[in-house]
Amino acid sequence: MKKLYYDSPYIREFEATVLSCEKGKKGYEVVLDQTAFYPEGGGQPTDTGVLGGVKVLEVHEKGGIVTHYLEAPLTVGEKVCGTIDWDNRFIHMQEHSGEHLVSGLIHERFGYDNVGFHMGAEEVTIDFNGLIEWDELMEIEKKANDIIWDNREIYADFPPKEELDALDYRSKKELTGDVRIVKIPGGDVCACCGTHVKRTGEIGLVKFLSMIHYKGGVRISLLCGKRAMADYEKKREEVQKISVMLSAKPTEISAAVDKMKGEISKLQEKLSECYRGMIEQKVAGMEESDNNIYVIEKEFGAQHLRQLVNRILEEKKGKTILALSGNREGGFLYIVGSQNEDMRLFSKELNALLSGRGGGSPQMAQGTFFADEETVCTILNEKGFYRA
Ligand SMILES: [Zn+2]
Repeated sequence: MKKLYYDSPYIREFEATVLSCEKGKKGYEVVLDQTAFYPEGGGQPTDTGVLGGVKVLEVHEKGGIVTHYLEAPLTVGEKVCGTIDWDNRFIHMQEHSGEHLVSGLIHERFGYDNVGFHMGAEEVTIDFNGLIEWDELMEIEKKANDIIWDNREIYADFPPKEELDALDYRSKKELTGDVRIVKIPGGDVCACCGTHVKRTGEIGLVKFLSMIHYKGGVRISLLCGKRAMADYEKKREEVQKISVMLSAKPTEISAAVDKMKGEISKLQEKLSECYRGMIEQKVAGMEESDNNIYVIEKEFGAQHLRQLVNRILEEKKGKTILALSGNREGGFLYIVGSQNEDMRLFSKELNALLSGRGGGSPQMAQGTFFADEETVCTILNEKGFYRA
């Protein structure tokens, strides 16, 4: 079978004869006398498109035979027209060519090998078997883009054996037989069966997104061409929104966030001071009593309820102190503390009486009562608590 994508990766439409069609698990398996559909392989995803008016879901190659997986059957012997989804394919060509360039430049500079390559829907990742610093990676990015904008021709062919033996090229495995060599002058020489653009200029752009340590080396995420452009627009839109929210220029949003964080922490300090004042006022206004004490402060959060309990415990040693806030969504948040009684047991008892849940340590427990205020007050009064 003739693989038209080797003649030219720019063939988007072609005619072919259906050699076989069988029903399989992943759809109707169609083999043609020739095809421009690239089968998944070498890190490049499958082409999709239409064949004889039927949707092509996936394309795979096994033992040199390219099989198309279709939604519906085709007639054997029929001449059909195939159209590949060019938008997707061209993105794959940009990404695959960009990957060669980056891998070649990193190999040349550091001697590292590309040991893993994945073209995902969101980004391309390449794994290298050695460590790189981010500023070194930025130098590689600059060099790759210089070569892209120099618009060099990319060559792909099957060189004769003598020529191949003398050639120094990157390869993931030991290759035998005909080897297809893809060459970017000044950028890379690599054995590859994928589809690539004809000139580096068509890659448009290489942009690194992130780099993490991975299996003793690094995993680099990048985007090329159309996907890099789409990513730029997505990020521009986000930055624009943030810029409007902060009333800051797009280039000054991080400084504006920094300033806002400073203001928030000042406000939090002031708020804490207010709470401390309210807690002191509460403590100062408490009557002398031998009873245990409960307090309802509807606006308090867990942190300030705990402060309140601790502060009252300092004043009323030996008592059990219960503080509640809420009633949000039908529940009271409670914190109960004591220096004598086991609060785990006490909170368990209260939970049973007030449809509550929660627990904690012997000194302090926390939870929620799903009961109305009247019920809570009645139960606590019955248990000998007075409301402060
Ligand atoms: Zn390639």
